Amino acid sequence: MTFQNVTVAGSGVLGSQIAFQTAYKEFKVSVYDINEEAIANAKERMLKLKERYKQDLGASEEALESAYNRISFYTDLADAVNDADLVIEAVPELVDIKTKFYQQLAQVAPEKTIFATNSSTLLPSQFADATGRPEKFLALHFANEIWVNNTAEIMKHPNTDPAVFEAIIDFARAIGMVALPLQKEQPGYILNSLLVPFLEAAQMLLVNGVADAETIDKTWMIATGSPKGPFAILDVVGINTAYNIVYAKGQAGNEQSKKVADYLKSEYIDKGKLGTGTNEGFYSY
Ligand code: NAD
Repeated sequence: MTFQNVTVAGSGVLGSQIAFQTAYKEFKVSVYDINEEAIANAKERMLKLKERYKQDLGASEEALESAYNRISFYTDLADAVNDADLVIEAVPELVDIKTKFYQQLAQVAPEKTIFATNSSTLLPSQFADATGRPEKFLALHFANEIWVNNTAEIMKHPNTDPAVFEAIIDFARAIGMVALPLQKEQPGYILNSLLVPFLEAAQMLLVNGVADAETIDKTWMIATGSPKGPFAILDVVGINTAYNIVYAKGQAGNEQSKKVADYLKSEYIDKGKLGTGTNEGFYSY
């Protein structure tokens, strides 16, 4: 199983990065999004990515220009997947949107095409039927800023063909990722299975008045040799994302999570302190 033509569906924050990185590693890439406005935004994002690749990787203008020239843009799904060996789906994290997308894709993609979802929180088995080809479907999950945070968590569902799983592991390596295979479905994959409870524990120490954010971070950093503590990590993740997680748990009846959610809202979100993106969160940048 070899991949030459890769289609990325959904060209937002992650889709643009996946498309650009794949083209940078010399694959031919088709980008699909729902309208011209979304495509224009993707092109804008890629121009910014070129600057980051220069800064962070020392990439040459020539290599970046060739990468960009290997990308074609489409608003028609059938055209975008016409000869695709692999479709990487990065459409919004909503079950309805993803289900409809796979139903539509199943009708127009060639039989050979493998489908991979970049979903962060939904499991591939939820969409396996909609794809019409469960054995050729799995998750390939990237981290934001994939050219530097180059992890690729690759997760099969119970009916993924093992040969497809292996082929996607090879593909991830070919586009410069560190491939991290998961042998079973796991909500949150490996990283968020570790990170989400860790960050929540830190927030509870703070909200319960046990210690301030700096002290908690310092404890973690010195004792484990980590470059960042939980609150510095939360600033990078963004306070809105952290809030959405605890808010959902609070709504489900968890009193501690509700307390954390109320605190994040009144002390940070309402004050516009959303993390590194706004230059202020638990720390100032
Ligand atoms: P985003 O909102 O930035 O981009 C979504 C894109 O999908 C937009 O360009 C939108 O126009 C397009 N879209 C909407 N409906 C579509 C459809 N029916 N068909 C094709 N395209 C459609 O979202 P994002 O942050 O890039 O997230 C996309 C996926 O990647 C989600 O599943 C998310 O869980 C996952 N992900 C995100 C991050 C992150 O840090 N943002 C990290 C890892 C994984």
